[in-house]
Amino acid sequence: MRLNIVCIPGDGIGPEIVAEAKKILDKMALVYGHEINYKDVLMGGASIDAYGVPLTDETIAAAKAADAVLMGSIGGDTTTSHWYKLAPNLRPEAGLLGIRKALNLFANLRPAVLYKELSDACPLKKEISDAGFDMLIMRELTGGLYFGERYTTEEGGIRKAVDTLSYDEKEIRRIAIKGFDIAMKRRKKVTSVDKANVLDSSRLWRRVVDEVSADYPEVKLEHMLVDNCAMQLVKDPAQFDVILTENMFGDILSDEASMVTGSIGMLASASLNDSKFGLYEPSHGSAPDIAGKGIANPIATILSAAMMLRYSFDLDKEADAIEDAVKNVLKKGYRTVDIMTEGCRQVGCKEMGDLLADEII
Ligand code: NAD
Repeated sequence: MRLNIVCIPGDGIGPEIVAEAKKILDKMALVYGHEINYKDVLMGGASIDAYGVPLTDETIAAAKAADAVLMGSIGGDTTTSHWYKLAPNLRPEAGLLGIRKALNLFANLRPAVLYKELSDACPLKKEISDAGFDMLIMRELTGGLYFGERYTTEEGGIRKAVDTLSYDEKEIRRIAIKGFDIAMKRRKKVTSVDKANVLDSSRLWRRVVDEVSADYPEVKLEHMLVDNCAMQLVKDPAQFDVILTENMFGDILSDEASMVTGSIGMLASASLNDSKFGLYEPSHGSAPDIAGKGIANPIATILSAAMMLRYSFDLDKEADAIEDAVKNVLKKGYRTVDIMTEGCRQVGCKEMGDLLADEII
């Protein structure tokens, strides 16, 4: 297969971790007989320095012409970097919001996996962390409370602020379809999270999710209230496969789920539109405090590349090979500084990439 991939190395540790992800993709292509065409483009701070804006039309056009986008991370030190003296619409993060909008990326996927070898980093009780977990949070990204009408007024000397949470059935259906499609590639369970005991938007969400589930008889669907879900994530995270939810609930729950893994350098993410196209990036930021030191953990970016193979190219076997390589290297005791524990061997960003590439045979 020929894969046309646009890469956005970005800022801080971005170029270091994207280089390692490319190393792994190249090895995968060699072993499995694929051809990859990369095109590197700028976004965020690097684009501001080169072109005066965080996102250019050329970057958007290149992304639209590709099959998928692999990104490092963008942004700098928000207190010292000159990028943060600019107007908000010219700062690095505006590039990220702009590209998500331009590419119509409405579905955000954040896996939260607890690897047995890293269970010491998990802040949960040992009997829970010993069981491990492997869930994926599917969050609606372009609707709901963050995009509804909002205003602040004053009535009779009393200040009042209003935000609106609105979803139509089309918005719910397209994210639900994505959630069920992805569950079919996993353990075939969807937990749809809402607040249907209070909110009308949640009651519609539940009805539409039920309708979509009729087309996926193999997938077990359960509904869960968001407050209960927040508790269950710390009480029994192993019960979850795909958590499907709206924008604000997903924002909060995905951060909670990632914290219970305890390892920010391991967490991948993807944002998809209604074709196979997606933008894949680690969940962490550009870590300006360690940029250029060669110590960043490239695994979150490498696992994002594995998600790209699985969801944009349907190359499940190849994605499995990368995920297995990560498990094997951890099992052999190699760690980057962020996940280092006693008795393990500390390696840098490049060496971790080499070790992972060697596992793909
Ligand atoms: P951060 O995730 O960059 O860093 C938080 C801490 O985790 C730091 O101590 C850092 O060294 C460490 N860390 C993060 N990734 C690591 C890795 N792969 N290996 C080892 N250690 C790692 O969060 P922050 O410091 O709040 O943000 C820094 C910049 O990143 C800001 O400009 C922020 O806006 C931006 N940011 C960008 C994205 C994105 O591109 N999607 C996401 C979040 C933050």
